[in-house]
Amino acid sequence: MAEPIPALPQSYAPGLDSVFSDQLGFYSIDSNVPGLSKVILEKLNMKDYGDYRKAMEGKTRGATFHSHKEMFDKMEDTFKFCAACKKLPAHLPDPKALKRCIKCLNLYYCCKECQKSDWPLHKKFCKKLRLVAIDRLVEWLISTGDLPFPTQTWTRPAAEINSWEDWLAMQGDLAPRMEPILSGKNMTELWKSVSRARPEDNDLRESMWRVCTEFLSRPLTIGLGIKLFNLDPYSRPLTIHVVGAAHSETLGARVTDMDELSNMFPGHQGLEVVMVGPEVVEGKAIRPPLKQFGPRAKSYISGYRGLYHQFWEDVVEKGEAAKPDLVVGFHPGFHATQSLGEGWLPTLLLLRDYEVPSMFTMFNESEYELSLQILLELEMHIKATGVNPFRAQKPEQVQACPNKPPVYCNWHYICFQGLLEREELEEAEGGEGEAEQA
Ligand SMILES: [Zn+2]
Ligand SMILES: [Zn+2]
Repeated sequence: MAEPIPALPQSYAPGLDSVFSDQLGFYSIDSNVPGLSKVILEKLNMKDYGDYRKAMEGKTRGATFHSHKEMFDKMEDTFKFCAACKKLPAHLPDPKALKRCIKCLNLYYCCKECQKSDWPLHKKFCKKLRLVAIDRLVEWLISTGDLPFPTQTWTRPAAEINSWEDWLAMQGDLAPRMEPILSGKNMTELWKSVSRARPEDNDLRESMWRVCTEFLSRPLTIGLGIKLFNLDPYSRPLTIHVVGAAHSETLGARVTDMDELSNMFPGHQGLEVVMVGPEVVEGKAIRPPLKQFGPRAKSYISGYRGLYHQFWEDVVEKGEAAKPDLVVGFHPGFHATQSLGEGWLPTLLLLRDYEVPSMFTMFNESEYELSLQILLELEMHIKATGVNPFRAQKPEQVQACPNKPPVYCNWHYICFQGLLEREELEEAEGGEGEAEQA
């Protein structure tokens, strides 16, 4: 390869298999397939991570791809490496010789021998990886606005809805909402542009459902946090900060993205979700946080590009934005490396010392355990932990290492608030739960 890949951070631990949206994501990809991140950049016509990020932020949109076919081809190229020996196309005598598993249409092999030797392992994951391959194409329908399909105001109190099944039971028949998408022009365009046949309609319905659960998992997880901390959106407006928000959450964000919260708490006093993070993309939907609350029963999205403790010092402390009633971090990933952990430390200490009700989510159980350990070392008062009933149903493949159990967005959660008291002070009944510090 022509250019070296930037040196790994010192604290980098090889073998990471988490899904990251930040720069470390590129390193973790390379930990299994050397040069894969380079391939991704090449295929996407980008010279470095900076370019990649700019494109993700939409700054070079339109310049990179000339057609949907080209876009989908290049996306698919980033998955082309031998799943067994990890060879990249560039390292093969005939780069076109990579063959795809005909069952999942997801994994590639350089030769028959590699495919054979990988099968005992791959057969455990082949079925799931078939869904993954469909989902990553159907996901495009979020960017076209076809998905998510419309959802309805909850007919039962949020406290009684504890699973996707409960949620579905309130929605009625989804089929009439899915049919126009299924027969729509974007769905047709999608399968005309990719290098595989259109799956059966039923496969597509299920895929649309999984993609939507990932989209809805964010507002529903925030809603779960509101419930777990006994916050009452009917008695006053609530401000929720989403800390470490990634470009994927703010790129192409729409003002309606958090509307499920309004479906969940119909007639609430106003909910504002402020995305804060260095990767926040400033778009038309993302406006500065409110000083005053908007009308009732509406969910607002605002954003601040920068680190959370800076936001706190520069905006919240000065009274230019409301203090948070709840802080949520989707997959902060501070467990992954020491340097990421250090980056998060000021935020974690701030949340602890200001006793902000906080909730973080993780992609899988090992991430959850590592994260919990770090929070306990910081003497956080852990209020609740568990498997998120509103985790995404869409499996997420570990790109460089596909033959592994998939992970799911917002699979596990940890709620924490303040410092763990040596001796728990009893909270005054019905009061604000104030505990005086010695
Ligand atoms: Zn091979
Ligand atoms: Zn397969």
